[in-house]
Amino acid sequence: MITRFAPSPTGPLHLGHAFSVITAHDRARAEGGRFLLRLDDIDRARARPEWEALIFEDLHWLGLSWERPVMRQSDRMNAYGAALDRLWAAGLLFPCTCTRRDIAEALSAPQEGAGPAHGPDGPVYPGTCRPDAPPAGPRPQDAVLRLNMARAAEDIAFDEETRAGAIRISRNALIGEVGDIVLARSGMGTSYHLAVTVDDAAQGVTHVIRGEDLFEATQIHVLLQRLLGLPTPIYHHHRLIRDDAGKRLAKRDDARALRTYRAAGETPQTLRAMLGLPPAT
Ligand code: GLU
Repeated sequence: MITRFAPSPTGPLHLGHAFSVITAHDRARAEGGRFLLRLDDIDRARARPEWEALIFEDLHWLGLSWERPVMRQSDRMNAYGAALDRLWAAGLLFPCTCTRRDIAEALSAPQEGAGPAHGPDGPVYPGTCRPDAPPAGPRPQDAVLRLNMARAAEDIAFDEETRAGAIRISRNALIGEVGDIVLARSGMGTSYHLAVTVDDAAQGVTHVIRGEDLFEATQIHVLLQRLLGLPTPIYHHHRLIRDDAGKRLAKRDDARALRTYRAAGETPQTLRAMLGLPPAT
């Protein structure tokens, strides 16, 4: 078994991250497996070395250990480029020059039926730039590239430990409810969905343990695994840790940042108890 924790160094870790990382770490330890850490730092505009240093401090304080070297997504641009090349060569990508405003306008045009669906990445793309035939020539660099979902989608299934049985998603649901998602952002050369899929496979992750908020994204990752010939791990989407008002914790919510508990003299033991997690063994 190989599990991982993949934080983005864009803010302090909070109680929700603690729940996630302890769950993934303890599971691997309990089953004699391996626990990996990965820094999801593709968002160069928001990733900061200070946040990265704080992640290491917090995880050490929690008493966790992980394998070295730590993978960082900013070192992996060639791997993402190769994955994009493969999808491009298969005719599954198209460049998109729409602004958010273009998309909003296209979606607000009168239409029959229930109106625009919302997918894991926001409103389902209205198809404004989608060509009839796959674009010819080499893959444009530094362009926004979308997945042509009608060409790419197939029926998929994956195992989810917190729900009984396999999750099945039909080709039609992917087309209608996910749509032509962005796989390469301009100035980034990749996207969260592409990077996470390529890296989980490269690290040999067998069990992806993460918050319930990423459940809807998993269908995208499983489809990308099919398209790229990568194995599908087992998924485990755990409950979210909420604040007293029942809201999901956000990075800017410093009251529940691990460093705040650390500074207040809490111990990892009390934190585990607070989260309903068993003591460290
Ligand atoms: N880097 C992502 C985040 O911090 C999580 C990646 C994942 O578990 O898929 O939200």
